[in-house]
Amino acid sequence: MKRGDGEAAPPAAMLSVQGLSVAYGALAVVHDVSLAVREGEIVALIGANGAGKTTVLSALMGLVPATAGRIAFDGARFDGLAVERRVARGVSLVQEGRQTVPNLSVAENLRIGAYLRRDAQVGADIERIYALFPRLREREKQLAGLLSGGEQQMLAIGRALMARPRLLLLDEPSMGLAPRIIASIFDIIADIRSAGTTILLVEQNAREALALADRAYVLEHGRIVLAGTGAQVASDPAVLAAYLGGRHAA
Ligand code: ATP
Repeated sequence: MKRGDGEAAPPAAMLSVQGLSVAYGALAVVHDVSLAVREGEIVALIGANGAGKTTVLSALMGLVPATAGRIAFDGARFDGLAVERRVARGVSLVQEGRQTVPNLSVAENLRIGAYLRRDAQVGADIERIYALFPRLREREKQLAGLLSGGEQQMLAIGRALMARPRLLLLDEPSMGLAPRIIASIFDIIADIRSAGTTILLVEQNAREALALADRAYVLEHGRIVLAGTGAQVASDPAVLAAYLGGRHAA
C-alpha cells in the first residue's frame, strides 16, 4: 500500500494487539489496549503498581482470557490458542517473582524450559544459556531454591530462552534486586535482543526500562495513556513527575 507522504511503510509488527480488554470476574482491569512490537525491538510497558501490566502479559500468553480484542503474532491470529501453542509459535513469558522450581537443580530447571522441543539442540542451547549467565554454569548442580534473587532471575530468563522464543515477555525482571544486580539484568536483556530475540518488557523501574527500550507504552488504570520512543516517553513531563521523579527533568 502506498503512503501519501512518501515515507516507507513501517515493517509489519511481530506482535499486534488491538483493543484488548481483560476482566477478573466483574472487575475490568485492562481496557481497550492496543500496542505493537516489531521484530528486533525492545518495547517497554511501564506503569504504577496495579495498572494492569501483568494482566496484559498474562492475556498475551493465554493465562487469562480476554473479554475483547485481537492479538496477532507473525500476522496470524494468536488469541484463542492454548498456552502451549503460543509457546510453540515462539512466545515465552518470564513471570513476575522468578518462578523457578526450588527443589530441582539449575540444569533441570533449564531442561524444563525445553519441554516442548523435540530437536537435538537442547544440550547446545544449555551451553548458550551458560555462556550468557556464567553464574548459572557455576551453580549448575545447585537447587534453584538455594540461589540468590539475582541468580533465580537469571535462571527464570534462561529457562524461558530454552523454548527458543522469538518474542520474550519479561514481567518485572528487576523486582526486589539490588541495584548492582539490576544493572546486570538490564545488560543481559540488551544481550538477548542483540542475539536476535525481540522483547516486551514490563517494568516499574521506569528509568532503566526507558533507557533500554526502542519504544514504550505507559499504562494507567488499565489504559494506554502515552506511547513513543523510549526517549520521548522518558522526557514526557507527566512521566517524569509520576515515574522518574521530577528532579531528573532535564
Ligand atoms: P504489579 O506491578 O503490582 O504486578 P500490574 O500493573 O502488573 O501491577 P496487575 O497485576 O495486572 O497490575 O493487576 C491489575 C489489577 O487487577 C489490580 O487491581 C489487581 O489487584 C487485579 N488483579 C490481578 N490479578 C487478579 C486476579 N487473579 N484476580 C482478581 N484481581 C486481580
